Amino acid sequence: MKATVVGVGSELIEGRTLDTNTTEIARDLVDQGSEVGVTFRVVDRKAELVAELRHALDRHDLVVTTGGLGPTPDDLTREAIAEAVGAPLVFDPDVYRQIAAFFARLGKPMPDINKKQAMKPAGALWLENPRGTAPGFLLRWRGKAVVALPGPPAEWRPMWRSARETLGLTGRGRYTKVFKTFGVGESDLYLALGELLGAGQGYEVTTYAKPWGVEVVVRGSEAVARAVRRRIKKAIWGEDEDTLPGLVVRRLRAEGRTLAVMESVTGGLLASLLTDVPGVSKVFLGGMVSYTGEAKVRFGVSPAVLDAHGQVSPETAAAMAAAAREKLGADYGLAVTGVAGPEGLEGHPVGTVFVGLAGPEGHQTRGYRFPDQGRESVRQRAAYAALAFFWSRA
Ligand code: ATP
Repeated sequence: MKATVVGVGSELIEGRTLDTNTTEIARDLVDQGSEVGVTFRVVDRKAELVAELRHALDRHDLVVTTGGLGPTPDDLTREAIAEAVGAPLVFDPDVYRQIAAFFARLGKPMPDINKKQAMKPAGALWLENPRGTAPGFLLRWRGKAVVALPGPPAEWRPMWRSARETLGLTGRGRYTKVFKTFGVGESDLYLALGELLGAGQGYEVTTYAKPWGVEVVVRGSEAVARAVRRRIKKAIWGEDEDTLPGLVVRRLRAEGRTLAVMESVTGGLLASLLTDVPGVSKVFLGGMVSYTGEAKVRFGVSPAVLDAHGQVSPETAAAMAAAAREKLGADYGLAVTGVAGPEGLEGHPVGTVFVGLAGPEGHQTRGYRFPDQGRESVRQRAAYAALAFFWSRA
């Protein structure tokens, strides 16, 4: 099956919303063994949308759209799809009642404009949307199919899974293995992987830099994936869909231990990453953002440590970790301090980060020097460094 994936919305073209939907759906289609010929974005203008949809339907078997299913006059996807295939829009009273019930659950009256969300091109199947008002639909037309999904990822993901099933796209695509590493650069991996990197007979090995480290993707060969794993085993913290916060939480749950954090350079990002994980409340007790020396002292760091070693030092990271552990009564305290920039601090260049860990076995620290690629980059790397350090502790 050959597909086009379309992001509908002027906001996508103007860059006010980053279009991640089309790439996510395209990747999923490729993983299922389909070929994606084109992904693109279109403005909220019906004539443009109709022309682009017709062109896509001319060339490909499947067209998936996201966005533009809302109730306002600039939400034009359903109208454009109906026009592109020459089908009338029909009103469905059952779906109308479901949308009204959605509003009733929120304790709000249903505005009149939402009525159009109960319209679909004649012959289309509804795709139920349990998380929002806009249902999607799947239309088969001349041996091809159009799938219309709403814009918000939390809404369209379950709908896309059900559309995929209806279309019979449950196949396995090309073999793909993803290794996630920390603490090694792309050039280290280049040295370790040598001739395996790049494209070989029926396979490719590619590296991608991410805030949590470098991802190594192997496509096409399980044997090559095994060889890659052997060569970089020490640097690998996870595979495929693993996330660092997810692994940290899993390990804590398995050990029946709890964690508290204190962070300065990351400003709460470490706690935020941890609380992304469902079920984290069993093991993560809380944290403190101690952005100034005074805050560190109020949260339990000894002024003597700060005076002797400064805000950014292994000793301070260790004292912050011990204070977090102590204040919240956790088994482990994890702390991160560093310099996000734009200026250096206490003689340390931007990108200097120290992570401290305090636990029943005593304390450990580690220092990092990340490249100065802006505050956001340093903060993200620092938060992931803390998670990687904690995850890999002895
Ligand atoms: P709604 O009923 O929520 O308005 P909709 O189908 O009309 O649904 P849009 O209004 O186009 O969807 O988009 C709603 C939100 O979904 C956007 O503000 C944005 O946050 C997200 N979104 C839309 N398209 C994309 C995209 N291509 N990539 C990532 N996010 C997107």
